[in-house]
Amino acid sequence: MTDTAGQAPKPVALSLQGLSRQFGTFKALDSVSLDIEEGEFFTIVGPSGSGKTTLLRILAGLDQPTAGRLLLRGADITKMPPNKRPTAMVFQSLALFDHRSVGENVEFALKMRGRPKAERHARALELLDLVQLGHDYHARPVTQCSGGERQRVALARALASDPEILFFDEPLSALDYRLRKTLEVELRELQRRTGRTFVYITHSLEEAMVMSDRIGIMRDGGLVQIGTPAEIYGRPGDRFVARFMGEVNIFELNKGHLTAFDQNLPAGNRFMTAVINGHMVVRPEMLHPVQPEDGGVQFDVTVTEVFHLGSRVQLHLDSVAGQLVAELPASSPLRAGQTVRFGFDPALAHCVPE
Ligand code: ATP
Repeated sequence: MTDTAGQAPKPVALSLQGLSRQFGTFKALDSVSLDIEEGEFFTIVGPSGSGKTTLLRILAGLDQPTAGRLLLRGADITKMPPNKRPTAMVFQSLALFDHRSVGENVEFALKMRGRPKAERHARALELLDLVQLGHDYHARPVTQCSGGERQRVALARALASDPEILFFDEPLSALDYRLRKTLEVELRELQRRTGRTFVYITHSLEEAMVMSDRIGIMRDGGLVQIGTPAEIYGRPGDRFVARFMGEVNIFELNKGHLTAFDQNLPAGNRFMTAVINGHMVVRPEMLHPVQPEDGGVQFDVTVTEVFHLGSRVQLHLDSVAGQLVAELPASSPLRAGQTVRFGFDPALAHCVPE
C-alpha cells in the first residue's frame, strides 16, 4: 500500500487500525489501516464486492469488526453504538420518513434530543439554506420532492445533529447524470463550508475524482492504494489501480526493454532504476501522432474507431502491441482506416513493478 500525499499531516479524525470483518470463513475486510484527517473529504472506491459497505458500516457503528480498532480523535469507539457517536450517515436509499414534512425530517435528530420547538425550527431553516432549499420546503411533504431535493433533505437531516464526521453510502447513485454532477459540486462545497470530515463510498471513480481530497482504492477487502486523485491517476501502484482509474495502455517491461515494441528504453530514463521489470502505464492522452525525429517510442498504427467525446476524440488503434486507445483534441483529422505513426514519451509514463 502506498500513501503519497507528501504533505504535513493534519490532526487525525478517524484512525482505522487493522480492521477485519469475517463472515463465516470469508474475510470481507482484511486488516484495513488508515488515518482520515480532520476536515478531509475521503472517498473509498472499489469494484462491487470489494468490501466498501462492510467497512463503512463498521466506521458508522452499524457493524462490529472481528478484529482491529477504530479510534475517534484517539478515543476507542470500536464498540460504541451508532447513536452515541458524533457521526451521521447518508444512505443511497435516503431513508427519509415519507409520511412527514421536510421540516419534520430535518428536525428529527433534534426532536429525539428533546430540543425545544422554536430552536428546532430555526435550525431547520438554517440547514435548508445550507443545502440550498427554500424555506417554503419546510412544510412540504417529502413525497412532493424530486430525487435531488430528497437528497438535499437527507443531507440537511444528517447535518442537523452537527456531526463531526459524515458517512455517505453511494448517496448519488440513483440520480440521473446531470443532477449527480450538480450535487457532486454542491457536496464538495458543503464539505468546505462546514469544515466537517466526510467519508464517502462509491464505485464511481469520476465522483471520487471530483470531490475527494484523498481516495482509498479497495480490492478484495483490503486498501491497495491511498492518495490524492491526481496521484492515483498519474502514479497508480499496480495494474489493477491503473485499469480501475480509466482507460489505459499497459506494456510489459523486461529489463528496461518494452517487449511489445522490441525497444529499449533510453538510458537515463527516470524509471530505469526504479522499475526495470514490470509494466509501463501509458494513458490515452499520452499517445499521439509523431514524426521520426520526435524520438521516444514509435510504432505504426491503424485507426479502427473514432469516438467523439465533446472537446476530445478517442481513437482505437491496431498496433504491434495489440489494441491501443488514444485521446486527441476534437480537431484531429484522423479517420478510421488510416495508418499513421504514433508514439509516446516514455519519460512521462509511469511504471508499476509487476
Ligand atoms: P457493492 O459496490 O456491490 O455494494 P461493496 O464493495 O460494498 O460492494 P460489500 O457489500 O462490503 O462490498 O461486500 C463485501 C463482500 O462481503 C461481498 O463478497 C459480500 O458478499 C460479503 N458480505 C457482505 N455482507 C455479508 C454478510 N452479512 N454475510 C456474508 N457475506 C457478506
